[in-house]
Amino acid sequence: MATKRTGYSDNQHSILYGETRGFCPLCMQPIIFRKQGSNNLNKGYEIAHIYPLNPTSAQTKALVKRVPPPEINALENVIALCPTCHTKFDKDFLVEEMDKLRLIKDGFLADAKARETASQYKIQEEIYAILDHIAELSVDVNEIPPIRFDISTVDKKLRVGMSPLQKHEIKVNAVTFYVPIRDYIRELEQNDQLAIRILQSQINTYYLEMQKQHPDNKDAVFSFVAEWISNRTRRTLLASRVLTSFFVQNCEVFDVSAE
Ligand SMILES: [Zn+2]
Repeated sequence: MATKRTGYSDNQHSILYGETRGFCPLCMQPIIFRKQGSNNLNKGYEIAHIYPLNPTSAQTKALVKRVPPPEINALENVIALCPTCHTKFDKDFLVEEMDKLRLIKDGFLADAKARETASQYKIQEEIYAILDHIAELSVDVNEIPPIRFDISTVDKKLRVGMSPLQKHEIKVNAVTFYVPIRDYIRELEQNDQLAIRILQSQINTYYLEMQKQHPDNKDAVFSFVAEWISNRTRRTLLASRVLTSFFVQNCEVFDVSAE
C-alpha cells in the first residue's frame, strides 16, 4: 500500500524555506520571488522527499544499499526544491542524486543545530575589545619577528581531521598575529584576570560542544566556533577567524594528539 504524503504546517514550511536561505539548493534559483510588474510574492518551491515516499520497483532495487529513514515524512527526510528540480529528481531518480541531496540536507541540519547551540552559549564582553583590536592590527609581513613559539604544536594539534587549507589558514594567522593578540590579552588581564579566564573557558566549552557534534570534521569545528564568535558579537568573521586561530595555538583544549 502506498505511503501517504503528509501536509506540512506553516511552521514546518518556515523551517524548510529558512534552511535553504531562499534558494533552491540544486539550481540556486530563488524559491520565493516577485514577477516583474507585480507586487505579489510567488511561492516557487515544493517539498521533496529525499528518500522516495513510494519507491518504484526500479528505485527499490537501486536503493538496496541505502537505509530508509525512520520516518519517511519527517522534516529530516524532506527538502524544499524548485518545481523543475523536484520533477527532475523524482522522474530521473538516481541514487547518486539522492546522496547529493542527503549531504545538502545534512549540512542544513548541522547548521541549524550549531545556530541553536550558539544561541545558548554566552560570551564575556572583553571579546569585543579583543576583536576590535584585531580588526585594527596591521602587520607588515616583512617585519614579522622570528617565531617566538613552537609552531609545530599547531601541526600536532591539527593532525587529524583537518584539511590542508584550513591548517594553512590557522598557521598563517598564528605566525602573523599570535604575539600582538597575546600581548593585548595580557594587558586586559591586568584589569580583570578572571574575566579573561572565563572568556577562555567559554570558548573552550563551545569548541568542545562543536567537537562533540562533529567529531570527524575539524574544519567544521573551526568554522562553527568562528561563526559563533562573529554572530554573538556582530564583529567580522575575518577577525573572528583570526581570534579562533589564536585560541587553537594557545589552548590545551585543542587537543594535542598523543604521540
Ligand atoms: Zn531548482
